[in-house]
Amino acid sequence: MRVRNKPWAKELIEKHPEYVVTDPEAFKGRWQERFEQKQPLHIEVGSGKGRFIVGMAKAHPENNYIAIELERNVLVSILEKQIDAQLPNLQILHVHGDSLMNYFTEGEVALIYLNFSDPWPKARHAKRRLTHKTFLEIYEAILAPGGEIHFKTDNRGLFEYSLVSFSEYGMRLKQVWLDLHISDYEGNIMTEYEEKFSSKGQPIYRLEAMFSN
Ligand code: SAM
Repeated sequence: MRVRNKPWAKELIEKHPEYVVTDPEAFKGRWQERFEQKQPLHIEVGSGKGRFIVGMAKAHPENNYIAIELERNVLVSILEKQIDAQLPNLQILHVHGDSLMNYFTEGEVALIYLNFSDPWPKARHAKRRLTHKTFLEIYEAILAPGGEIHFKTDNRGLFEYSLVSFSEYGMRLKQVWLDLHISDYEGNIMTEYEEKFSSKGQPIYRLEAMFSN
């Protein structure tokens, strides 16, 4: 994805340490202290511009949410939404998904969302896919027993790869949708990519999976 440089992004992020966590290591095992209420913690890895996670935090005040995004020029759009919305149950983390074990302790997370993750279609880049085994190991470590991964994509190749990856890892698929928008699934909150691809008529794939611990 080509990202437009926003020279003002750094300054805006630095002005809002109440929303964008500046010292995430310090909160390992203590994330509940960042929120008004102690309640289940849901994280999204690769939040992009944040439409989904902001929508979820608004729709579900009974959960706490953390948006994780590595690209500053994209993350700043989540921050702009949060400055408007001022949601007490949403925090933003500017970190890489492969370092989550530095920031979350074992079992601290109830649910992980992966939405329209970069497909990395070349086989030699498979390790970068957020559903590769090395990421599943990280998710397993930080998820509480019974914790789930909810994954949506328009990319059929990534979806097929992920089904195999989850299955080889011994995970249990709870539910699979091959065309989410014509299903009876309720409460879907669209991401920016979902809006873009579904408006072109592409089916949206979705699954819910859990580790068998
Ligand atoms: N989820 C959003 C949506 O559906 O509109 C964005 C999808 S975009 C294709 C993927 C996003 O994930 C990008 O913003 C990218 O910077 C971010 N990303 C990719 N790999 C990541 C990683 N390892 N850790 C954190 N963010 C990542």
